Amino acid sequence: MAPTASSSIIHLTTAAQPHIDNPGHSGLLPALIKAQKQNGYISKPVAAEIARVLQVPLAEVYGVIEFYALLYKEPTATRVIRICGDPACAIAGGHAALEAVCASLGVSPNTATADGGFMVERSPCLGLCDQAPAAMVNDMALGCIPVAVPAAIIAAKSLAKPAVVGGSLRHLTRRCGTGATPSLAAYTTDGGYSALTKAVQQLTPAAVIAELKSSGLVGRGGAAFPTGVKWESAANASGAEKYIVCNADESEPGTFKDRILMEDDPHAVLEGMALAGYACGAQRGYLYVRAEYPHAQQRLAAAIAEAAAGGYLGNNLLGSKFCFDIELRSGAGAYICGEETALFESIEGKRGFPRVKPPFPTTAGLFGKPTVVNNVETLCNVPLIIGAGAAAYRMHGTEKSPGSKLFCLSGDVARPGLYEVPFGVTLRTILDEMAGGVSGGTLQAVLFGGAAGAFATAAHLDVPMTFEDLRKADLPLGSGVVMVFNHTRNLRSVLEGLAHFFAEESCGKCYPCQLGTVRQHEILGRVAAGHARAGDKELLADVGWTMLDASLCGLGQTAATATLSAIKLWPELFAPNGQAQTARTS
Ligand code: SF4
Repeated sequence: MAPTASSSIIHLTTAAQPHIDNPGHSGLLPALIKAQKQNGYISKPVAAEIARVLQVPLAEVYGVIEFYALLYKEPTATRVIRICGDPACAIAGGHAALEAVCASLGVSPNTATADGGFMVERSPCLGLCDQAPAAMVNDMALGCIPVAVPAAIIAAKSLAKPAVVGGSLRHLTRRCGTGATPSLAAYTTDGGYSALTKAVQQLTPAAVIAELKSSGLVGRGGAAFPTGVKWESAANASGAEKYIVCNADESEPGTFKDRILMEDDPHAVLEGMALAGYACGAQRGYLYVRAEYPHAQQRLAAAIAEAAAGGYLGNNLLGSKFCFDIELRSGAGAYICGEETALFESIEGKRGFPRVKPPFPTTAGLFGKPTVVNNVETLCNVPLIIGAGAAAYRMHGTEKSPGSKLFCLSGDVARPGLYEVPFGVTLRTILDEMAGGVSGGTLQAVLFGGAAGAFATAAHLDVPMTFEDLRKADLPLGSGVVMVFNHTRNLRSVLEGLAHFFAEESCGKCYPCQLGTVRQHEILGRVAAGHARAGDKELLADVGWTMLDASLCGLGQTAATATLSAIKLWPELFAPNGQAQTARTS
């Protein structure tokens, strides 16, 4: 028997009892997250109670707990300190900070202190690369942690600093980086929700899609698929039940743009989603935010409540027949859930394993229904386009890459931060004129597009940042990552760190990626340790191309792109032990 509304609500009466307010299988992850927050872990009785109420087999409950890195079956500690070990934080001292904190507490990583007060973990990217090295203590983000003062990290109370936000075209980011707390009043005073008002009162859904197609907007999450085409496909799909999903599971090392948009301009995300719902005929949206962004989640939750109270979400919004609600969902520590079909599985209360495509989301997505998935930055473009019109939008950028793009600058750069520029600006302009240039030395390399991206060098500084020019230069725009390494950095260690990331985050569903990411990490571990063997370079290339060709989803298909680009640019890095060691040693 399916749980009734009354039987499915378990009110908190003891610390061991979860509060479940989202019945059914889809409520599994929220229930587990809530139980984890209440008790610090998910005990056997709590897991059993969640299984009973949601009518989910207990084995599935444990399958989900074990899939997500931030869910625990065993007690952890009162304070869990997570220190980022991915490239931008690693070169800023993240590993040293982890060792110092562990030594100070007298524990090894992943082991709690005897009194249960602290546990220290190495974390994948926390989306604070502009404030490296970064850490998170329970739900509190810490930027620029003092590597040499572990006591300050252990006792930390303050939040991350406000982000540096700059650039030559502040359209998407005009309300970001000001330090102001976002509000509905401030948003509407600045013209917010006027695009949604215009759409529901003056435009047909088809007209909204036509305007979007005219604008030339393409997805900003990395795939660059035309947004209007995607919306049209979902609008034309049969069935009355459709969904809009905002993919805010921004987990690509080096990427933090969506975090800043969500924290500083949450209503723009909601307005973009509501416009998508209107255009595609969806009445419900899901906003899936990674667990490592608690501040963004708080800001979005407040904005959803404000928007509903103000008539911008809910039934018959703005006096029209259009009804649209948004549910905020949290991830639980799984990079793979940024893959759109894995994200659906996660919302449906399952482990985040990618699905085989086709069918594509616009015909069979969330809950098997037509679904549009858009990234945060993509959705924030939509109110601008519908509000001012496609022609105005196209006044910036190039014919084939209209509008603006957000770039996340991190690593060895004088002013790390988020920079918005019209498409067509060169990397030299962004790096030297806006972000203050390379710090600590001369430019050795730029990791472009994220961990799943590729390396660029000084030879690429004058390539215009457009989809068409970057394609010609064999560089992926990806999610807009520009991670800079000066000449003192050890690129072998950087590559080992990237390989560690992919080996940890592979979901294991398909063998090319499951095995390939581990082999890649092993070989790059040897290379970084100065123990490279004859044939390692060729083996790495073979593993890389196999993953690229044969993996099921984008994670495996891109897990070796940075390595393959490094092999092409610096074959000497992979020379057998002791040969051709370069100056890249620190
Ligand atoms: Fe999972 Fe990797 Fe296969 Fe994607 S490519 S399904 S992450 S194992």
